[in-house]
Amino acid sequence: MIYQDTLEFANQLDQQDPLRNFRNEFLIPKHNGHDAVYLCGNSLGLQPRSAKKYIQDQLNAWEDNAVEGWFVGNEPWLNYHKQLLSPLASILGAKEAEITVMNSLTVNLHLLMVSFYKPTSKRYKILMEAGAFPSDQYAVESQARFHGFDPKDAVIEVAPRAGEATLRTEDILKQIADNADELALVLFSGINYYTGQFFDMEAIAKAGHATGAIVGFDLAHAAGNVPVKLHDWDADFACWCSYKYINSGPGGISGIFVHEKHFSDKSLNRFAGWWGYRRDKQFLMAPGFEAENGAEGWNVSTSPILLMALHHASLDIFEKAGGLPALRQKSEALTGYLEYKINEVNKKYGEDVYQIITPANKNERGCQLSVVCKRNAKAIFNYLADNGVIGDWREPDVIRLSPVPLYNSYADVYKASQSLFKALEAVK
Ligand SMILES: *Cc1c(COP(=O)(O)O)cnc(C)c1O
Repeated sequence: MIYQDTLEFANQLDQQDPLRNFRNEFLIPKHNGHDAVYLCGNSLGLQPRSAKKYIQDQLNAWEDNAVEGWFVGNEPWLNYHKQLLSPLASILGAKEAEITVMNSLTVNLHLLMVSFYKPTSKRYKILMEAGAFPSDQYAVESQARFHGFDPKDAVIEVAPRAGEATLRTEDILKQIADNADELALVLFSGINYYTGQFFDMEAIAKAGHATGAIVGFDLAHAAGNVPVKLHDWDADFACWCSYKYINSGPGGISGIFVHEKHFSDKSLNRFAGWWGYRRDKQFLMAPGFEAENGAEGWNVSTSPILLMALHHASLDIFEKAGGLPALRQKSEALTGYLEYKINEVNKKYGEDVYQIITPANKNERGCQLSVVCKRNAKAIFNYLADNGVIGDWREPDVIRLSPVPLYNSYADVYKASQSLFKALEAVK
């Protein structure tokens, strides 16, 4: 698309946008009485307008049916989660049986490593990207220690080359191959939270498997943002959170994927609980754990219905919008417009003050652009916030801006970039 640097052009793109009305399905925070420019869906997605109703329905069911609510009513709680599986399966490119919804993300990462990180004295290393989200680093280090290994030895981090901000796929694949005999697990994010780089998950899975390692993904920044095909790409396991691009509320429920090829593997450890028990016999309360078939067998505890209701509200919007393919088409154009506008700001100012470190290739990024601010970074970020442009800040000098196709407009992008320009004048 050929972009233009005028508000009329942005408004015109909004008028032509088939998804434009989905913005009305969300509650946009206000700044001085007007809609803020909210570009922070990478951290917390906005509240669906319908969320209150979905919650209220379950509060009503609780009021009306009390404990019987597990078995009666329009949506008996015992099977409430099943309504979430089909939309999630399409967002994640999985079979429904390969997915379940439970806990929160880091907890799930641990539970999955209990099953899939099975180090031996020879093969015990975990390969991940350098600069992974801290919670993932802590999880991996503590898992290595739990098995009696020193994380300094057991964890291999793939870092960008000197002077580069993002990873080259060839370097990732080479490090996997170089450590072939010692790798137990390759654990990568789908999209790096800091740089916004979308990794070639299929190639990583293939390279990991060629060494005999297990390959897992943390899709916190990928789920609901970019199309993924967990089943076809042959990921062994994956997990994600629902409160970033899946708009399911602060601390919203997480999900996991386990590839069906592992369903019958009795050698996998798992930390079991009654909610993962065979559904047909769960309430016999018999001794001896028997797992439900599929990802559901990884469940531990009673379904948190109110969190699931929020998730349901949001997933219904994804379905209505036509799922990831439709969203991705707009997302590429919208983020492309932000990229164009940031480059225009630099040109107008006569200096590359804003350096985008997210890959320029749209196949290597989602909606987020991470911008290194070459001067007065924190003051510029604060100027944006004071002017109703909400991005987020990462030390030491990065501003992350994420136009989300479900609720952001081209006009939002236009306004954000105008503020980026004005900030250069205002902050000296
Ligand atoms: C957001 C995020 C988390 C957060 O984990 P919680 O357990 O939900 O607090 C973990 N890992 C990655 C990669 C993230 O982006």
